[in-house]
Amino acid sequence: MSDILQVSATPVTSLAATHPNPAAAPADATLSGAFAELGLADALVRAVSDAGYTEPTPVQARAIPAVLDGSDLMVCSQTGSGKTAAFLLPAIERMQRAPREGSARGPRLLVLSPTRELATQITTAAEQFLRPFRRMRVVSILGGMPYRVQNAMLAKPYEILVATPGRLIDQLDRGRIDLSGVEMLVLDEADRMLDMGFIEPVEAIAAATPAARQTLLFSATLEGRVAGLARNLLRDPQRIEISTPQTRHDNIAQHIIRADDMAHKNKLMRHILLQPDVTQAVVFMATKRECDRVAQELGDEGFSVAAMHGDMEQRSRNWTLSQLRQGRVQVLVATDVAARGIDVPGLSHVINYDLPRAAEDYVHRIGRTGRAGARGTAISFAGPADGVVIKRIERYIDRKVDALVIPGLEARRPQRDAVDRVGRKPGFRPNSPGSYNKPGGGGFKRGAPRKPSRP
Ligand code: AMP
Repeated sequence: MSDILQVSATPVTSLAATHPNPAAAPADATLSGAFAELGLADALVRAVSDAGYTEPTPVQARAIPAVLDGSDLMVCSQTGSGKTAAFLLPAIERMQRAPREGSARGPRLLVLSPTRELATQITTAAEQFLRPFRRMRVVSILGGMPYRVQNAMLAKPYEILVATPGRLIDQLDRGRIDLSGVEMLVLDEADRMLDMGFIEPVEAIAAATPAARQTLLFSATLEGRVAGLARNLLRDPQRIEISTPQTRHDNIAQHIIRADDMAHKNKLMRHILLQPDVTQAVVFMATKRECDRVAQELGDEGFSVAAMHGDMEQRSRNWTLSQLRQGRVQVLVATDVAARGIDVPGLSHVINYDLPRAAEDYVHRIGRTGRAGARGTAISFAGPADGVVIKRIERYIDRKVDALVIPGLEARRPQRDAVDRVGRKPGFRPNSPGSYNKPGGGGFKRGAPRKPSRP
């Protein structure tokens, strides 16, 4: 039987409301300045403070002591909740406390990630936390990376290995990695790994590690196939389920704008991108071809823009991300490959040019803005037939998304969707014109909140 640790959302919400950084809002007032109180040694606490963290996030407050105790964990939390530090910090602490046993040369901590972007982010965080410990190294093994480079990285001793499952299996088959010294296995975004068909590689990798290892599973859901995976790989796990303001994206203003067709969407997108409060934006498209087309057109018009989708080589994806991070790219036009793992603090806006089919992808996409507790804005264009998708998203996020109308760019076509079902006449204009984002008026008017649609 698993021990269930449930964290009430109420104190999190109320504290976060006054906290300057909601992502980093402490779970409990008694935890103030509390990384050391969670059981981390001074050097690690200093590395955490150098990273700019002052208070543990709720998932860190619960997971760090449990990991230090040696428990297996199933943690329900999403990107943005601080989950990376929630496993890296106690893992590094444990490795510091007990030197490596035996003669195994491979990793002591193995982190599996579904995507290369997420893996890169985890590696960067690990490098930051390892700074005080000069002898410890992190290595990442990702698809798309030249084998020559990887082999060179694997030749020197290292403690932490961050990998995507496919490439790791490849390297295991070539006999380049020894997993017999793994003390802790972390499955990050386990639900996503299953969605991407990685179940067999994940199980094969786990089987190559010692059965006595500690296993931590992080996932947006702990039910269904994830529960099945956990049954196979975890031993008597503690469950941690946390609903933080960040996972609910309370710090992100969410809007829907009705759009007639692509020509209309193009006009809306340009109007939004030209607003002064849009510092950087990701525009999500349904297809790679459209992604290239829109990026090309925006570039021709003088926007600093880049495209990102699954047909692009990892090297060029990494380069694009670094350009985005350095603020050299203002608009990233992307497919869902960019929906997870991109952590760029300057991203002020997410535009869903096309709505994602899965509600979960909507949550991941909009989470690209509002990073580390900043405020963000997500605007989704809803075509005439998108009513079902909107309902699915609203049910999933358990809230209504405000309708927004841009004067002069109203939709003309009747909408066969939730917007119509709530009784608005075609040509509806909001009766409470509010300013958008800026006091005193921006370019948009906000619609009155939509009434709940019939179940
Ligand atoms: P993650 O959920 O691990 O992807 O983290 C989301 C973002 O929050 C990253 O930019 C982290 O650097 C940041 N972060 C994580 N923990 C904290 C903390 N305790 N205080 C402030 N920022 C944090």
